[in-house]
Amino acid sequence: MTLVIDEDKCARCGECEPECPNEAIFQTEDAYVIDPELCNECVRFGDPQCITVCPNDGIHKAKESLLKKCMSLFG
Ligand code: SF4
Ligand code: SF4
Repeated sequence: MTLVIDEDKCARCGECEPECPNEAIFQTEDAYVIDPELCNECVRFGDPQCITVCPNDGIHKAKESLLKKCMSLFG
């Protein structure tokens, strides 16, 4: 259970980082990423808090993200 940040959509605004109750989101030199070991999809809250605050629809469930990548690669 984890979410991933779409680097093509992420505007590096930083809104999601402080919202994460598990401190799973962090910034690298050139991107924001989610640590899959810490993300539990906010099961306690019902909705992923990071998705709620992201202004760019830049955070997705890992499976959705893989599907989008496959579609873009293989049409
Ligand atoms: S879904 Fe919740 S636990 Fe996972 S990265 Fe987003 S805010 Fe953090
Ligand atoms: S809130 Fe969205 S756009 Fe802003 S840093 Fe997080 S993933 Fe990127």
